Formats: sequence, structure tokens, C-alpha cells
Amino acid sequence: MIGAGISGLAAAWRLRALGWTVEVLEAGDTAGGRMATRRLMNGIADLGAQFGSRGYHRLKQLSRAAGLAGPCPAASPDAGLWVDGALHHFAPAAPWRLAWSGALSPMGWLRLGAGHLAFARRYRTRALADPTAWVDLDAHPARPWGAAQFGPQATERLLAPMVAGLFFDDLNTAAAALPAILWRFRLDDPRLRSFPGGNQRLPQALADALGCVRYRTEVTRVREATDEVTVTLANGRKERAAHVVLALPAPCARPLWDGRTEAERTLLATPYTRTIVVALGYPGGFTRPRVLARSYGVLMDATEPLLAALSFESRKNPDRVDRGEILLVLLKPEAAAALEAAPDAEIQAQVEHALHRVLGTSARATDAAVAHWRHAMPTTRPGRLAALQEYRASASPGRRVWLAGDGLAFPFSESAAEAGWQTAEALHRAVTG
Ligand SMILES: Cc1cc2nc3c(=O)[nH]c(=O)nc-3n(C[C@H](O)[C@H](O)[C@H](O)COP(=O)(O)OP(=O)(O)OC[C@H]3O[C@@H](n4cnc5c(N)ncnc54)[C@H](O)[C@@H]3O)c2cc1C
Repeated sequence: MIGAGISGLAAAWRLRALGWTVEVLEAGDTAGGRMATRRLMNGIADLGAQFGSRGYHRLKQLSRAAGLAGPCPAASPDAGLWVDGALHHFAPAAPWRLAWSGALSPMGWLRLGAGHLAFARRYRTRALADPTAWVDLDAHPARPWGAAQFGPQATERLLAPMVAGLFFDDLNTAAAALPAILWRFRLDDPRLRSFPGGNQRLPQALADALGCVRYRTEVTRVREATDEVTVTLANGRKERAAHVVLALPAPCARPLWDGRTEAERTLLATPYTRTIVVALGYPGGFTRPRVLARSYGVLMDATEPLLAALSFESRKNPDRVDRGEILLVLLKPEAAAALEAAPDAEIQAQVEHALHRVLGTSARATDAAVAHWRHAMPTTRPGRLAALQEYRASASPGRRVWLAGDGLAFPFSESAAEAGWQTAEALHRAVTG
């Protein structure tokens, strides 16, 4: 297994349970990849994955298996929406409030309500984490689909900020499956979950329980022969295995291995969005605008140039912040690209300036952490799910290099874990018949 993110660890866990001998090679010195947590100001900040949901069944199963006790506390699913320069309160359980808050006109709200009922009738039982279950929405562009399903106003003022704030993606280029999966989440219990102690706890617990992760072991090349695979490490050493699973973001897997089939090459070429996450610590607290009193954070529309989303750590779980507040700020992909080489202090200054504009706060953070994610999440462009379906259908005993990771998933951790799990099962089936 190459990569000790949640996808590689789920695959390793499943293969081990099926009787395989597995070794995980990880470039970093901890497990978890984009489920990354660090301490900040006597508290905890998730610098990668922010939230799970009750529909995250695979992660629940893995956390039980790894011995993580107790349920994850539920947080409010309410968010602020920044639309045309004003903040509104969005309660998924009571979306009619959007009409009262002025975010949607009464007609816009009626279209959303009718579209929601029709959507629920059609998609309520669809699998959340397996993109191939959504292949019928693969060829449709997202924006016209959203306008036909929920009305043009809700598409611009609700769907677009959700897709941008949660996935850093764009309705202009995405397939309809992406906003559809977001809306599908809302049909279950919409409350948000996160792990006490930070979201990295789960992958790290899995890695510790597996006991077969080799850290600081970067792979630079993977070569396939008919009966084995040779893996070259950054230190020049070579390792051999009967099968190799690339559980990496597609842009990290592509330089290692070219792919043999068209479907493999399409999946390896999946473009990823980027972001910068800035965690800001306010020991003296943070005055939230009243409209955000019940919100876990804020999602931004296209008029905001720098910020994609905000989230308040104290809202996830009472153990996250023992005093004051930790604010997580996620940047838009274009802003992240422009600030790639900027010093952390400059990024923090720009973020604090934007927070003043959006939240009206002039509070200064005393502690900060900045994480650059050059490959934050896979985009879901038309054609991707069809390639994934073709890839899965063509599994064969002769396949020695297997793909996992979120290049085969929707852009969230449950789907990445599911991709790893399914790859492990497909590999096992292919070999044992
Ligand atoms: C800012 C941000 C916010 C997010 N928010 C959410 C959220 O709220 N909810 C949610 O469910 N998901 C969220 N996600 C998505 C979630 O983090 C991912 O879906 C998931 O972590 C992907 O797991 P993975 O195992 O596929 O990849 P990764 O976590 O990236 O793991 C890949 C691993 O491979 C290692 N690696 C890379 N190259 C090599 C190499 N050459 N050799 C050896 N090892 C290598 C890396 O170090 C890494 O540990 C978010 C992601 C980001 C970036």
C-alpha cells in the first residue's frame, strides 16, 4: 500500500482481514494525510477534513475496529451564507428561513422546496460514498442541472457556495453528480460529526493498530512486470510486492505510474482543487455576528474573492478549545494559487483583513497555523464517474497495480475510505476468483 491516508488504511485494514500480508509505505512521519490535526493555543485545529456526518458508515466501522471508543458528538449543521455581500443564516432542517432572511425570494424558495421534494423522492436511497451509484448524473453539467432541479436562484445562492465552500469546486465545470451528492447528505440526519481529539485520530489509530506502516518512506516509481511490482523509494532502494495499491491523490500517483488502460489514465489525470487553510487562535474569544449564533461556520458565494469557507472549532466539540476560539479559514483555489509563495504572516494579514470585511471583526489572532493543500480535493468533471465505472468493471487477476485514494472517490473522507475498501475487495476477488 502506498499512502497512509484514510483510503490506504481502509484498504490495508480490509486486505489484512481477508488474510493478506500488507505493508504501508508513507512519505510523511504520521498517518492521516489530509485528515490532519494539530495543537494550537491549548486547543485542537483540524487543518484538513473538518466534518463527518451520521451517514459515514465506513468510517464508523473503521473507528470501532481501531478501538476508538464512544460516539462522535453531533454539531449543529447550520451555516452562515455570504451572499452578495451579506450574511444569512441557513438551517438545513428549516430551509424556509432562507426566504425570511432575504437570501432567497419567495419564488426562489418555492422552486427550491418543490425541487427538494422531487429530489428526495428520487435519490433518498442512493449510496452516499460510491460515485458509481451516481453515474447517471455524470454527463450532465452541474449548473443547468441545479437550475432545472432547484431553480436558478437557489443554484446561485445556495448550491454554488456549498460546492465552493465544501469542495472548493465550481458549478461551471462540475458534473451534476457533485451538487447532487451534497444535497443527498441533507436527506439524512444533517448534524455534523468530528472526532474528539481531532479528525486525525482515526487514521492514526488505524495505522497504530495495523502496525505495518513505514513512515518517511517516499515512493518515487512503480514498475509492473507480469508476476510482481517493483517499487523504487526516494533513498534509491527497491522493494518488490505481488500487488501494489496507489492510495494517493491522483496528481501524486501520476508521476509514479503511467496507467495501462484509458480508464486508468483518465482517473490518474483527475484535476484537483487547491486551498490554503489558516487556523487562527483567539484566546480572548471572538465576537460572532448575531446571525451566526447557531452556525458551525460560513460558506461564501462567488462575490468573495479570498475566502471559501470558515468554521469555528468550538462548535465541533466542546473539547476542541478550552478558552477563546479557534477559527479555521479555507481559501478559494484561485486565492490559494496566488498566495502559494507568500510568507505565512502575509497570508494571515490578508485573511484577517477579509474577516473584518465579512464578520466585522477586528480581533487579532495570537496564534496561527497555515497549511497549503496543493491537491486538496478531486474535481468531479463530466466523464469521471464513467471512467471509474469502467475501471472497476475491468478488474482482472492480471492487474498488479491498483488504484485507491480519492481519485476514485467523491471529495470527502467517507468516500475516500470506501474507495480503499472497494479496491481491497476487488483485488481479493480478482486473485481468489
Ligand atoms: C482543507 C480540506 C478540508 C476537507 N474537509 C473535509 C470534510 O469536512 N469532510 C470530509 O469528509 N472530507 C474533507 N476533506 C477531504 C478528506 O480530507 C479526503 O477525502 C481524505 O482525507 C482523502 O484521503 P486519501 O487517503 O485519499 O488521501 P490522503 O489523505 O492525501 O493520503 C495520501 C497519503 O499518501 C502519502 N503520500 C503521498 N505521496 C506519497 C509517495 N510518493 N510515497 C509515499 N506516500 C505518499 C501522503 O503523505 C498521505 O499521507 C477535506 C480535505 C481538505 C484538504
